[in-house]
Amino acid sequence: MTTTPTKEGSAAVQARRVLVLNSGSSSVKYQLLDMNDRSRLAIGLVERIGEETSRLLHTPLTGGDAETRERTGRIADHAAALKAAAEELAADGLGLDSPELAAIGHRVVHGGLRFTEPTVITDEVLTEIERLVPVAPLHNPANITGIRTAEALRPDLPQVAVFDTAFHTTMPEYAARYAIDVETADAHRIRRYGFHGTSHAYVSRKAAELLGRAPEEVNVIVLHLGNGASASAVAAGRCVETSMGLTPLEGLVMGTRSGDIDPAVTFHLKRVAGMSTDEIDVLLNKKSGLVGLCGDNDMREIRRRIDEGDERAALAFDIYVHRLKKYIGAYSAVLGRVDAVVFTAGVGENSAPVREAAIAGLEELGLVVDAGLNAVRSGEPRLISPNYARVAVAVVPTDEELEIADQTFALVGQAESAGQQVPVGQVDN
Ligand code: ADP
Repeated sequence: MTTTPTKEGSAAVQARRVLVLNSGSSSVKYQLLDMNDRSRLAIGLVERIGEETSRLLHTPLTGGDAETRERTGRIADHAAALKAAAEELAADGLGLDSPELAAIGHRVVHGGLRFTEPTVITDEVLTEIERLVPVAPLHNPANITGIRTAEALRPDLPQVAVFDTAFHTTMPEYAARYAIDVETADAHRIRRYGFHGTSHAYVSRKAAELLGRAPEEVNVIVLHLGNGASASAVAAGRCVETSMGLTPLEGLVMGTRSGDIDPAVTFHLKRVAGMSTDEIDVLLNKKSGLVGLCGDNDMREIRRRIDEGDERAALAFDIYVHRLKKYIGAYSAVLGRVDAVVFTAGVGENSAPVREAAIAGLEELGLVVDAGLNAVRSGEPRLISPNYARVAVAVVPTDEELEIADQTFALVGQAESAGQQVPVGQVDN
C-alpha cells in the first residue's frame, strides 16, 4: 500500500486503484486495476441480468493461480449485479469501500459531438448522455444505469465517462457528414460518429510503438474485428475516417450486423416484404452479417465448416473478407501513405485465415503477409509482414479496459494536481 504524509503528519492512503465498468443492456463487465503498475487485481462479468439464469464470474488476480469463482441464480438488476461484484471483490480484500480506490471509469458508447475527451461525470454530463439516447438507444441507457448504480455505491468517488465516439471526433466534416439534406441531418443529429474509439486509439498508439515511432509520425489502418467490427484510418495519431456511422450498423460485415447496404433495401423490405421498422432493425442488427449469411457468427466455427466443404460458410467468409479488402483499399487512398495495417479484437487477433485472405493480392499497395509469422499465436503485439514489405502488417491485442483506466486515472490525477476539486456526488439517483 502506498501512503503519503498529510499536513498533519498522519499517513493517508494514496488512491491508485481504478474500477472500470462496462455496462451493457443485460451484462456488466468489470476490472479493478492497480495504477502503480497498471496490473489487474480482479476481473469479472455478470451476465443475463434480470433472468433466472444470471451468472457472475469473478477472477481475483492477486494470488498465484487465477481461479474463477462462479455464482448462478437470478440477479435482478444492475444495482444487484454491482453489489454482487462488490461482495466478490471484498472477499478478496479488494472492497470498493477501500480508500485506495481513486475513481470509477465507465465505458459510455455515445458521446455525440460534445464529448471529445474523457469527462468527469456531473449531473449536467449525465443529462447530456441521456439526451443522446435517441442516437444510441441500445447502449446509452445501460451505460447510464451503470453510472447511477456505481454512484450510489460510492457517492464520494469521481466517476469518469470514457466515450467510444471520442476518438472519432477529429474526423473532418467531409468524412463525418452523410450526403443528405443538411437541415434534416442537423435537426436530428444525423452524422457519422464512429464507435470502438477507445480500441482504435489504443491500438493505433501501440502500433506506432511496435514500429518504434511516435504516433504523430505514422499513418495506420486499424481493423477492429470482434463480434462488432470497424475500420479506422488514423493519420499522425488522429482519426480521419471510420467505418461505423450514426450507429454501429454501418461498415464492415459483422457477427450479426449487415454493415453497408443500399439504404433502399429498408424501403423495399417495408413496402414489398411488409416488414415493420422494428423487424427491419432486428433483421439488420441481429440476423444479418455472418449469422445471416451462414447461420454462425463465430469465425472458428465458420472455418471448421469451410474445412468440411460447406459452401454457405465459404461464401460468408468471402463476403466478409471482400468487404475488409474494400475498406483497406479505400483507407489507403484516404491516408495517401500507409505505414501499417493492424488487426485487433477476437477475429483480428486470432484468425490467421482472415488476416491472410484480407491482405492477399494487395502487393501493389505494399501489403504482404508472411505465412510463418501469421501462424504464430501470441498475446503480444507483433508484425506479420516480411522485412522487405513497404507497409507493415501487424497484430495488436486491444485492451479497452486498460485504456479506460489510463484515461480515467490521468483525468482524476490531472484534476487533483491542478488543485481542482474533482466533482463527486452530483448524480441524481
Ligand atoms: P466483442 O467484444 O465484439 O463481443 P470479441 O472481440 O471478443 O467480440 O470477438 C469475438 C469473436 O472473435 C468471436 O465471435 C469469434 O468469431 C472470434 N474469435 C475468438 N477467438 C477466435 C479464434 N481463436 N479464432 C478465430 N476467431 C476467434
